[in-house]
Amino acid sequence: MTTRLSISVRLTLWFSAIFLAGFVAFGLTMDLDLARSLDHGRNRTLSRRAERALEQIEASRNETSREREIRFADFSQGTPEGNLIHFLDADGRTWYPREPAPRDFPWPPLPGRRGERFVDVSFAGHPYRVLQRAVVEDGRMTWILVGGQLDDNRLLLSRFHTGLLAAIPLLLVASALSGYFLSRRALQPVDRITSALRSINIGNLSRRLPVNPPGDELQRLAGTCNDMLARLEDAVARIERFTADASHELRSPLSLIRGVSEYALRNPDLPPDAREAFEEVLAESVEAAGLLEDMLTLARADAGSAGLAMESIDLCEVLLDVCQSIRPLADAKSLALEVHAKPGGRVDGHRASLRRLLWTLLDNAVKYTPAGGRIEALLSTSPGEARITVADTGIGIPAALQPRIFERFFRADPSRGQVEGSGLGLAIARWIADIHHATLRVHSTEQVGSEFIVAFPARPGQ
Ligand code: ADP
Repeated sequence: MTTRLSISVRLTLWFSAIFLAGFVAFGLTMDLDLARSLDHGRNRTLSRRAERALEQIEASRNETSREREIRFADFSQGTPEGNLIHFLDADGRTWYPREPAPRDFPWPPLPGRRGERFVDVSFAGHPYRVLQRAVVEDGRMTWILVGGQLDDNRLLLSRFHTGLLAAIPLLLVASALSGYFLSRRALQPVDRITSALRSINIGNLSRRLPVNPPGDELQRLAGTCNDMLARLEDAVARIERFTADASHELRSPLSLIRGVSEYALRNPDLPPDAREAFEEVLAESVEAAGLLEDMLTLARADAGSAGLAMESIDLCEVLLDVCQSIRPLADAKSLALEVHAKPGGRVDGHRASLRRLLWTLLDNAVKYTPAGGRIEALLSTSPGEARITVADTGIGIPAALQPRIFERFFRADPSRGQVEGSGLGLAIARWIADIHHATLRVHSTEQVGSEFIVAFPARPGQ
């Protein structure tokens, strides 16, 4: 599987790549331009020297050869690289200077035709450029050759290259850092939106995302998420209202069915088959009424309208009470029920709900433990915590299903134990634990047994 790089890293890479490409293109253009203008500059200098040389030739028209010699020598000395100057007649014979210096400078051969050309030569390991220009002076053709070093140009270009190459890593690091910093800054609101969305669940759908800077794309995203949350909240509220209303509406017909069955069963002359039918109707209506009550409890919990009045409760007392109520059911299945609870373990709680929570755990232990098994209820306290454990030697719960048993209507393969139930008991138990700020956990091994632990934060001072 390929892992996608984060948007910040991808933006940084793009930013750096585009910056590098731009910088290289800029460098190449500048390099070509610089080389061309240095080249032109050198050519212009050579041309100017050739023109000045021509002026000297013209001015020396009526001079003796000695005077000419002195004039050209002065001219040569007055120009940089002045000794790289050469005058030839039409046949290619040098008439100035008589003693060329440097002696072995590689003057390029004259071109076949008149005009002007630049030729690059190398002398003593250094590059030179020579201008060959044909001029007609006093009716005679003369070749003027002037040479100049190219070292300065080359040096300037190589310094420019070194500067460019040295700047690349520095600019690359600077562009990557600034690109990363800018993209992180730009995407920070996305992180905030993500963590705010993560913290929203069905229980706190009324929360909304912060909508900070006005007008940008992220503000629109946050606004759209808020609109979606509002629609979800509305939809969930309607479902909750429907469940609550439906459960409520079903209550009356169910109690009517129950009342009629009970009334009919009180008749001693009821034929046996009719009695059997009424008994079945009564049992079903009692079960359906229980299910309805559970659904109403959860609907009220969803609506946040349970409005339970909390008081200081002695957990030991509640546990002993529930165990006493459940004992006949355990005895009926030949299950050993052991209770270990010392007085103490006070919590802020709602008595009826806590009874309901412990009843669910103990009733499940009875339901899912085969005859002859053992059930243990234990209350232990430690500083800051009171903990009730209900353990059984029952059929256990497959590990993969354990996280799901607290979901509504979830039953871990109902066919396993042929046990009656609705799958709402533990969902309600968890809700009760939540409103008491307690945690409800399960440890279970198939065919060995289960252990449900409710850990309450103890009242301060215990
Ligand atoms: P139910 O009405 O089915 O008992 P609960 O919500 O109380 O619904 O429990 C959900 C499921 O968790 C049960 O159907 C059962 O599969 C499993 N379960 C709960 N308690 C135990 C237990 N003590 N031993 C084995 N399985 C259990």
